[in-house]
Amino acid sequence: MSQALNLLREVFGYPAFRGQQAEIISHLAEGGDCLVLMPTGGGKSLCYQIPALMRDGVAIVISPLIALMQNQVATLNEIGVRAAVLNSSLSQQEAVSVEYKLMTGAYDLLYVAPERLLTARFINLISNIRIALFAIDEAHCVSQWGHDFRPEYMRLSMLHERFPKVPRIALTATADKDTRKDIIERLGLGASRVFISSFDRSNIRYQILDKTNRYSQLLTFIQTEHPGDAGIVYCLSRKKVEETAAWLTKQGLPAVAYHAGMSMLERNRNQKQFLRDEGIIMVATIAFGMGIDKPNVRFVAHLDLPKNIESYYQETGRAGRDGLVADAWMIYGLSDVIQQQRLIEESEANALYKQVALRKLEAMLSLCETSTCRRVQMLSYFGETENTAACGNCDICLNPPKIWDATVEVQKALSCVYRVRQNFGAKHLIDILRGNLTNRVKEWHHDKLSTFGIGKSLSVKVWHSVFRQIIALGFLETASAEYGALRLTELSREILKGQQTVFLHQRIESNQLLGNPPSDDLDDLDTNKRDLWNQLRIWRAATAKENGVPAYVIFHDVTLMELVRLCPQNISELSRVTGIGARKLEKYGDHLMTFFLANSQANR
Ligand code: ADP
Ligand code: ZN
Repeated sequence: MSQALNLLREVFGYPAFRGQQAEIISHLAEGGDCLVLMPTGGGKSLCYQIPALMRDGVAIVISPLIALMQNQVATLNEIGVRAAVLNSSLSQQEAVSVEYKLMTGAYDLLYVAPERLLTARFINLISNIRIALFAIDEAHCVSQWGHDFRPEYMRLSMLHERFPKVPRIALTATADKDTRKDIIERLGLGASRVFISSFDRSNIRYQILDKTNRYSQLLTFIQTEHPGDAGIVYCLSRKKVEETAAWLTKQGLPAVAYHAGMSMLERNRNQKQFLRDEGIIMVATIAFGMGIDKPNVRFVAHLDLPKNIESYYQETGRAGRDGLVADAWMIYGLSDVIQQQRLIEESEANALYKQVALRKLEAMLSLCETSTCRRVQMLSYFGETENTAACGNCDICLNPPKIWDATVEVQKALSCVYRVRQNFGAKHLIDILRGNLTNRVKEWHHDKLSTFGIGKSLSVKVWHSVFRQIIALGFLETASAEYGALRLTELSREILKGQQTVFLHQRIESNQLLGNPPSDDLDDLDTNKRDLWNQLRIWRAATAKENGVPAYVIFHDVTLMELVRLCPQNISELSRVTGIGARKLEKYGDHLMTFFLANSQANR
């Protein structure tokens, strides 16, 4: 193992392995197959990159997204590791040159797209060289349950048949059990070791709020909590993506858009800008995100409800890969739930699939309406039931909602549903309860109902929250997504009969902000250090531009932060900073030393 640790320190510049990395690396380096389930930002890449350097031959890394292989390779080249990509972004001539070098043993790692790997020509080619290992990244692409199914991935099982002696490592950040089972079956990994890490992303702060005004809520959030930060804003529809991006731009924020309806050229340009420049806000549908390895995404905002907890976890997980504090912020309303339900009902899928999808949507709703720690609830959804301590880093923990006895109000709501023959949605029901003489109320003579005006004491907003909670608790369900009509359930009866008490929570005000997290690293820097930080960022941006790579390929924020805190005064101090290995020291050491020495002189 000392060889692995040396590589980690010398080449990657990190002092110690994280979590199960050391165990995985030694298992793979010794020739064992394995499946690695680790959350985004957990450090999966090192699990095959270090064995690639330890074993003879070249490691073949299979990755589904062409555009993003480049950044991985650029990062490796930057630290002196011999790596290349082979995919359709190369010209014929470039591809031939990579293949030639591959044959002469010029690479430690080669990243290939699955469709390229699976050609007879390529398989023949690699049959003549020594292969260190196969790494199958984003392995959930093999599963139809997953969110990014790729038919080519199914054929990857042939690797084992063709190269039985070459160890394989499959990696994914997908936590759900169905997908996990699929990966093992379809890639023939039944006999291999499975390494499961906790899926907790402790640096992400979760927050879910009522949607009142999407634009102003979003703007307040970005301006007060994340000025100048890079972030992703997810919307459900292409139209909303475009509108939101245009609106943010009009407010003077650097926003770009991304959705499947845009031209490839435009999409690539915007993605590149987001990855390379600092502080860009990407407004996107869920078409954007898989494999995005930008480490310093500081927030992910959802303007619409994701379809299930798996998606919510994946999408929010794109924040804070570098381990620094990040926000997962979402606003939602009952109409979002109905819209998602409609999408499921109208889809072409079979009945079983729809049933599963609806169940998953219900779980998502109950996460939104929970009155206990969101992290605990999410982890237990993924089967991690041992973590039961409240996290202290979600909106519920930071700002516990008040719990009130809502039995009488819930009875009023349920009996109103009954009086209108279970044919109307929440908005109309609230009008009746609050005694609003709308046209619709008059048209249906609902002002004559005994429930008309019996709920005046609660505001419209509170009533909406009450309806959402009773749906989440299963006391009401939507009869048809088309009209959003609500109907009673088995459970409603007990409440109507007064046999059960119902406690609901009173949510915090929708625009209440949680304030900066206590550990926000930038916040507790003094002005002098903040100045250093800014200067280093400017230098990093210029260096990145010169080299044609994203800023984080030069140094991560974590490294800059440590530099600012330590202000290293000699090369040995500098070499101990996280993320500074031998090659970076050689390349940037002199510049950084001059910079810090000049600075400490100026401050004397
Ligand atoms: P994943 O692929 O699991 O999402 P990455 O492999 O991209 O995660 O790693 C996430 C971040 O953590 C990267 O910036 C990586 O350099 C860093 N990292 C990984 N392992 C370590 C370690 N042992 N010590 C310090 N940083 C690490
Ligand atoms: Zn919590």
